[in-house]
This record gives sequence, structure tokens and C-alpha cells, in this order.
Amino acid sequence: AAVVGVLALQGSYNEHMAALRRIGAKGVEVRKPEQLLGLDSLIIPGGESTTMAKLADYHNLFPALREFVSAGKPVWGTCAGLIFLANKAVGQKSGGQELVGGLDCTVHRNFFGSQLQSFETELPVPMLAEKEGGSLTCRGVFIRAPAILEVGPHVEVLADCPVPTITSGKGLEDEVYSKDRVIVAVRQGDILATAFHPELTSDSRWHRLFLAMDKDSQARSLAALSLSVSS
Ligand code: GLN
Repeated sequence: AAVVGVLALQGSYNEHMAALRRIGAKGVEVRKPEQLLGLDSLIIPGGESTTMAKLADYHNLFPALREFVSAGKPVWGTCAGLIFLANKAVGQKSGGQELVGGLDCTVHRNFFGSQLQSFETELPVPMLAEKEGGSLTCRGVFIRAPAILEVGPHVEVLADCPVPTITSGKGLEDEVYSKDRVIVAVRQGDILATAFHPELTSDSRWHRLFLAMDKDSQARSLAALSLSVSS
């Protein structure tokens, strides 16, 4: 069975571990750089990204996390995890924070406002329906949620949603965000990122999608290995 690392510094890592159990995959909690070594894929959960970044720094995890991402191993960030993976984050009240990076996008850390503006919505996700069948939408649980303001050319948008009036006009540095929809789920090669929390619902489709990415990437590295052995 697949073994998936779950960054377990802070936030919703227990819920990710449980979601993996439900689909018969094994989750391994990761708190130290050396625990990343034998792993093929990693989930970075939601939580509070500044706190998570401080803890990651304390445990000297940033270099190992960056190496993991640049090795092309599948990584999925939910909410704060998405912020971690972004190349650029805006909307910090108190200065910046360290990011892992790798995902070519700009995220707004608190695009949807504070705890009070947390919300749930039915999100249309064509790609999930294509891979998994069933309903075209998924339940999006947004908690002090970030959003993706801009993406690079290699980023595939998996879901967007209307900008709530209460948060429209949030700044993208000195510009104002004036589109009426904002991106909340993307994929760039082996990086998956969602602004919402599938691990807080009973819908396992996102976890299964991520496992499928993991399998594809293992098959690719096996193929590369056998090529280099036979040549
Ligand atoms: N906005 C939060 C942050 O900056 C993320 C919220 C979440 O992960 N639920 O970290």
C-alpha cells in the first residue's frame, strides 16, 4: 500500500491521516527532515501558516522540503499548505514568512477574510468528475482561507469560485483584485494545492486523486531507472 507523509507540525494533520486510512493508504507523520527521506509523497495540511513556518524553521525542515518538491515528488498543500508551496504570498499583516515555494503562483493569505467569514460551498471541479465519476462538484470548506490571485503558464486551474462581496477589492500588492472569480485549486505537475480543506469532509476523491499522482510518479521513476539500467 502507498505510504504518504503528512507534515505534522500543526493544523489538520490528524484529519489527513484519517482520510488516508479511510482509503486504505498509510500516512506517516513527518516532524523532522530525515523523516522525509524514504517517502514518495507528502501532504502539507491546513492550519496557520506563520506558526507552521516558525515550527518548520525550528526543526530545520525548509531545505529538506524544498529538495522534496524539486525532486518532483508529489506534494499536496491544503490551505496553509497551499501558502507554503506558493512562490509568492501577499496579504501578510506582520511582514513575510518563509515559504517552501515551487508552485508558480501568487497567493493571498487571507483572501476570504477572517474566521468570521469562513464558509462552505459546492465547488464545480470538472477534473474530479472526469477521474472519479460521480458528482461534478465537491464540498469546499474554507476556513480563514487563502486564494490564488495569479498563476504561471504551467499551472492548471482545477477550481475557482465567486469572490464574496465582503472580500472583493483585496489588494494584490498595490493593484486591486477586480476579477469576479478567484482560483482555489490548482495542479502544476506533481504539485496539487487547494485553498479549502477536503480532509474535513467525508469525500475521499481529492485524497484518491493525490494517491493516483503518487502512483504515476513512482511508475515514472521506475521507468527512468530501468532505462538507465538497460542503457
Ligand atoms: N489564512 C491562514 C494562514 O495564513 C490559513 C488558514 C487555514 O489553513 N485554514 O495560514
